[in-house]
Amino acid sequence: MSGEPKTIQPPVVSPTDYRWEGVDLLPYKEDGTIFKDVTRQILFPGGFDLPVELRYFEVGIDGHSTLERHEHAHLVVVNRGSGKVMVKDRVYDVGLNDVVHIPPMTWHQFRATNGEPLGFLCVVSTERDRPQRPDPAEFEELSQLDEVGEFIRV
Ligand code: MN
Repeated sequence: MSGEPKTIQPPVVSPTDYRWEGVDLLPYKEDGTIFKDVTRQILFPGGFDLPVELRYFEVGIDGHSTLERHEHAHLVVVNRGSGKVMVKDRVYDVGLNDVVHIPPMTWHQFRATNGEPLGFLCVVSTERDRPQRPDPAEFEELSQLDEVGEFIRV
């Protein structure tokens, strides 16, 4: 059996209205951390010589992802709607086809601020650490930053 090519999902997985065929619609996170109105679909679970997951996240209108950081990086491409993302100490407007790189150990949060959902594809390593939330001192520090202080949600 060794050396035989394997497939882990069909070669083509198509969406209808941002729901990919045969892909479960999952809660954003199952660990009870703080977020609002975010769903997750795993479009590629990683494997073989490609040890990354490709996920589609959708933040509903006025929703937000968890304010967090971690050792692993994210590579994000916006493919639905628009909104804002906080990376490190700044807040950026994002829309269709914008590419966002979240470096390791960098605070980040996505929000759907424009009256429409914010959907994005996110590439992440299959082997990764758990996200960290700001402790009270770190949160206070973030709150003092100009744009960021007003932007962040917990
Ligand atoms: Mn993250």
